Amino acid sequence: MAEHGVVLGSPGAIALEEIAVDEPQAGEVLVRIEATGVCHSDLHVIEEDGWGHRLPVLLGHEGAGTVEAIGDDVENVAPGDRIVIGWKTACGACAMCARGEPRQCKRPPTAAGRLHRADGEDLTPVLRSGTFATRTVVPAVAAVKVPAELPVDHACLIGCAVATGVMSVLETAKVWPGARVAVIGCGAVGLCVIQGAKIAGASEIRALDTDPRKLEQATRFGATHTEPGPADFVFDVVGRRQTFTQALGLIATGGTIVLIGLSPAGEKAEIDLPALFARRARVLVSHGGDHLPHEDFPRLAAWALDGTIDLAGMVTRTAGLDAWDEALDAMKDGTVIRTVLRP
Ligand SMILES: [Zn+2]
Ligand SMILES: [Zn+2]
Repeated sequence: MAEHGVVLGSPGAIALEEIAVDEPQAGEVLVRIEATGVCHSDLHVIEEDGWGHRLPVLLGHEGAGTVEAIGDDVENVAPGDRIVIGWKTACGACAMCARGEPRQCKRPPTAAGRLHRADGEDLTPVLRSGTFATRTVVPAVAAVKVPAELPVDHACLIGCAVATGVMSVLETAKVWPGARVAVIGCGAVGLCVIQGAKIAGASEIRALDTDPRKLEQATRFGATHTEPGPADFVFDVVGRRQTFTQALGLIATGGTIVLIGLSPAGEKAEIDLPALFARRARVLVSHGGDHLPHEDFPRLAAWALDGTIDLAGMVTRTAGLDAWDEALDAMKDGTVIRTVLRP
């Protein structure tokens, strides 16, 4: 049966095309993708001409599906398991892993060379995942089993938006109970920061966005205020000069700014150093919430099942893989929280 995937072939040239998917080798799994969220990072890959990935690129990195086959030495999953693909696994061997910080690993394992264009040319899967496709091959460590009763179109969001947003609060920032939180940028990741702040027991959650539709959404997901005010933790989910400057202006004494949003190449912000010093401020970078898939996805799935986090409310629209272009446009326009593609 022919496989299909959405491929960035050269800068600006994207198409749904036939692809070839190899059998998994030792330590790898073949996954039938059943749902994949359309995330801003995919847009970033397109707009930054691959964002460091060698072209041609197979897009998509927020996927869930079913394990269809496993290579030798795979013990964590079996064929038939419902899994979420994790793009931020740990190698176990680099300097960060060796010093006990697998969440900061910069060399996640990859199943290289398993995905090809119809003519045989190798495809680079975005963030080692490649989920805008009917099937993909990933390292077994990147396939995390989740309960089958979690609907697959909700489960996929755990793979990026939810892991990034919730874990930015719980792991990167370690927000304490009673803290005042502000969130700049209330798209899918921002809504997950808000949900994470609720879990952490924040006393105030300020949602800030230039789009009034997003403020209304944020209130539904747990924001308590929609105007600026002092905060112990300010999450910049946008990553632009204006938003970072706004974040600097909001932090209280001893406060923390957490930069989550991917900035365009060359973006710069000016920092008032005396003000930073006077506030004893900390600036943290959240790399995808510093999540670790095999530790975090099971607890996120459990929170989704018991209603602690709302995933259903984040899926504005589902569509086939051929709707990738409308899905990207809708994300740019801000008319959806998430489009989930069902290959
Ligand atoms: Zn490592
Ligand atoms: Zn993402």
